[in-house]
Amino acid sequence: MSFPPPTNAIDFDSARLQRLGLVSVNSTVQPPLDEEQLRRKLALQLQSSLEADKILSMFFDSVQPLIPLGALIYQHGDTDLRLELGERGRHSASYRMSFEGEPLGEFGFQRDRRFNEPELAQLESLLGSLLYPLRNALLYRHASLSALRDPLTGAGNRIAMEQSLTREIEIARRQQQPLSVLMLDIDHFKTINDTYGHATGDGVLKVVTRTIKDRLRNIDQVFRFGGEEFLIVLTNTGRESAALVGERLRHAALQLTLPVEGSPIELTVSLGCSTLLPGESPDSLLRRADSALYAAKRQGRNRLEMAG
Ligand code: GH3
Ligand code: MG
Ligand code: MG
Repeated sequence: MSFPPPTNAIDFDSARLQRLGLVSVNSTVQPPLDEEQLRRKLALQLQSSLEADKILSMFFDSVQPLIPLGALIYQHGDTDLRLELGERGRHSASYRMSFEGEPLGEFGFQRDRRFNEPELAQLESLLGSLLYPLRNALLYRHASLSALRDPLTGAGNRIAMEQSLTREIEIARRQQQPLSVLMLDIDHFKTINDTYGHATGDGVLKVVTRTIKDRLRNIDQVFRFGGEEFLIVLTNTGRESAALVGERLRHAALQLTLPVEGSPIELTVSLGCSTLLPGESPDSLLRRADSALYAAKRQGRNRLEMAG
């Protein structure tokens, strides 16, 4: 799925100057009578939410009576948000929105009928209603994401891990699905720090996180449990499948190319795996994975042990 290259940029600093009458606007387009009403409605409606996807969905629905749209495709790289509403069409209009130098995302509007100039002028003008609500929602989204992420690796932090485990255990019970976790620890990581320096160690942590994420399904989650230790939560996954995932991660670590000049660093990881027992608490599930990890270390590292 590719995103159409933005053809128009809306810079709200200059748009504001236009509204204040400080810049002449070449406007031969007479807006229909209800555009102003719609703008007022949007101003009220859009500030009722701090969730970017809700705001965009309200915008998409409300604009329809005035400008029929097939699809709205939106993405904001900084907060990893991507949204597609409606059905795509043959014709498109794209905008990149920014405010005071801050990117507010890329918009693609599509439908089967060609967009005419008056419609595009209206659309651009209505996009202005999104400015403050969307900016606030993106700031909120950014803050929420940062509060739950480890800044170095981008993996979930301990708070996120606790929330997720509680939620996943609830789902597993309700849906009667299995749930497994893997505790992964880099072997002899201290030696990497001691030999190549802390910055290289940091780089290795990032690469290992990326490698883990790349080998998992979208619904699986990775958390940084401690210094060089990660917890992987495998939704709807029983013991045997979890063991396969663990082995896949162990092999992936062996094949890593690490960000160090000269002699390649040999990197191995050890893993402990536990699968949720009936009535088990999050703490107990973690404790069993940790004991299995400890057993893997004791038995020589670079191996996966299953909790009993
Ligand atoms: P083992 O195989 O038994 O796991 O040995 P290890 O050396 O990996 O384990 P140990 O617990 O002795 O050392 C972990 C090291 O990880 C010590 C600590 O300085 C380092 N560490 C923890 N957090 C970070 C970090 O954010 N960046 C870097 N570069 N190092 C870290
Ligand atoms: Mg270690
Ligand atoms: Mg450790």
